[in-house]
Order: sequence, then structure tokens, then C-alpha cells
Amino acid sequence: MTCGTVGAADLPGAAARRSLPSEGGAPVGLALKQCLGCAAPLGEGLTCEHCGARHRVAGEGFALSCGRCGDVLPPGAACCPGCRAPAGIDCPECRARTPAGGRFCQGCGLELAAYRRARRGHLPVRHAGEAAGERARAWLGSGWFRARDQADHLRLIDRELLWAPVWRLRARVEGTLLGEVARTHYRTTTVDGIGPDGQPTQRVVSRPYEVMEQVERPVAEALDERAAASPDARELDDLVLAAGPARVEAAPLEGPALPGDAAGRLFAPRGDDEAAFTALRARALEGLAAARGLRVEQRRLQVLDLRFELAFHPVWRLVWRYRRAHGVVRVHATTGDAAGDRPSLLAQWFS
Ligand SMILES: [Zn+2]
Ligand SMILES: [Zn+2]
Ligand SMILES: [Zn+2]
Repeated sequence: MTCGTVGAADLPGAAARRSLPSEGGAPVGLALKQCLGCAAPLGEGLTCEHCGARHRVAGEGFALSCGRCGDVLPPGAACCPGCRAPAGIDCPECRARTPAGGRFCQGCGLELAAYRRARRGHLPVRHAGEAAGERARAWLGSGWFRARDQADHLRLIDRELLWAPVWRLRARVEGTLLGEVARTHYRTTTVDGIGPDGQPTQRVVSRPYEVMEQVERPVAEALDERAAASPDARELDDLVLAAGPARVEAAPLEGPALPGDAAGRLFAPRGDDEAAFTALRARALEGLAAARGLRVEQRRLQVLDLRFELAFHPVWRLVWRYRRAHGVVRVHATTGDAAGDRPSLLAQWFS
């Protein structure tokens, strides 16, 4: 490796370094505590547990420091100016080393400073206006019970477009899981006794017992985890988290506006990207172990092709009236899938 300097603007930590205003003399950079190598939270120490980058207080914030001698590494330095040790970032997912200043991991292509930030997107509105009403009517007419006069007496009296945010993490995972699985064995014993006729008897008894056994399981599969990003949108969860939208790719969001948002109501996402990323990644990896009945002791996994997004799903909320009863049907404006209340038999009889 040559020991040169790359442009500071290309560095993952460059933005953080530039935007470190001093507030009342306190180093704001320390309050942010974000790794200058991979943008993960730094926690209590100043060594990143994700990429191994070391930091130290420098000026008003903090800077990357040499893993060998502790000297501050100037932005873009390929080697430590003090001890000439090569400076680099170990990829948090594949462990490959990328020289300082690299934006993408040389091993797996991960965008080092950006992979924990969700890309904002939205799903397209494919069922709008009357089409949404038709989907709602079709769903209401598809139940096991349908009043004969439902088509004549059911009215859709209100329609509103909601945008529900959903976190989504997709990746490919390869490697092995080491752990224990429970195996059932049987212990067979012969029990001697005396029968009612006074003669000796023998009985064979088989009892199950469990033994934990060490196993190593290969892993090579796709991860796809989703979670609603707003508790306000909980009633929409089943619809937006259903398998349907998985077929549809979210289009990137340009600026803060959503298509047709003048008519829509937006559920603001709760929580931050970092918390959502950590939770989804952990849940996906736990799912791998659970699917194999494993109590995991060690993971040797590479998480590749990570894609993390926050996508807004358009959902119509339609209010129907049937005789004296009211109800709500929700129609996913991308897939046309519907869920909600149906008119009951009682509504027909007692109206
Ligand atoms: Zn890091
Ligand atoms: Zn050094
Ligand atoms: Zn990598």
C-alpha cells in the first residue's frame, strides 16, 4: 500500500468532522459519538465495536487514531504518520480491510458510512379513486356471509389516503452457525413384577429423554425483515407487512414530499434508523437459529448486500355504511389487498 493522502471529502467521517460546531466549549463530536469509520454508535469507549476503528479526542471533536501507536490519523492518511502502520477500516460485516478514505468496503461493497441509515422511499399508488372503492367492495362481497341486498344498500361514505412507514432490511447471509440442538432419545427398561395370579411378569417401559448435541449448520440464504415504523399505524400492520408489497420495489423519495401527499395523511416514523437497523438485523439472525432449532453458541456469518430502507406504504381508509351499521375497510393502494370490518348478519336482521 502506498502511504498517500486522499481527498478529505471522500472520507466516511468527513461530514461528521465538518459539522462539529463547538457548543459552550464542550466537544460536540463526543456527544455525537459516531464512528468515523462506519458511522455506528461508539458507545462508552472510543473504539468501535463494529469496525474496530480507534478514536481519540482531537480539537473540538474526535479523530481516528492509529491502532498501534495511538497517534491521530490525519484525514485520508493511508498510514500512521507516527509509526507507519497501515490505516484502514475492517468491514463490520465481512471483516475485509479497506484502506482509510475508502467509501465502499473492498470485500463486499458495503457503503461504510451509510449502511446503517435507511434509504427513504415510497410505494406507488396503483389503486386510486374509484379503483380503491372497487377493491373495497370486492373484498366486502367476498366474505362467507353477504347480505343479498348488500350491493344495493352498502355505501362508501368516506375515503382517505394514509402513508404508513415500514422499516425493511434485506441481505444475503453466508457462513455457519455453531450451537446445540435438543435430540430426543428413548431409554427402554424392563420392569419385573408379580401378576394378580401370583406369577412373575415382565413389562417393557420406554421413556423419552432429551440430550443437547453440538452441531454446525451451514447458512446460505436471503434475509428480509420488516417492522412498522409507527405505533400509530399499528392497525395497518397486517396489511402493510403482508407478503404482497414484497413484490414491489420502493421508489426513492425525492425531498420530503410524497406523491399525492396533499390528499394523504402521513404517519411520522418513530424511533431512529440506528435502533431499527440494530433490531431488524438481530431479529433476522435470531430467526436463522430458530429455524434450525439451534441454541447458538457461535456465529460465523457474513451479511452481504445489505439494503436498509424506510418505505412509506399508501393505504386507503374507506368508511362504509350498511343500513344502520358502519365499518372501515383498508385497501393497500399498491397491491389492492384489503382488510377490515365486514357487515354482520346482525346488521342485516336488526336494521
Ligand atoms: Zn466503526
Ligand atoms: Zn501509529
Ligand atoms: Zn465488507
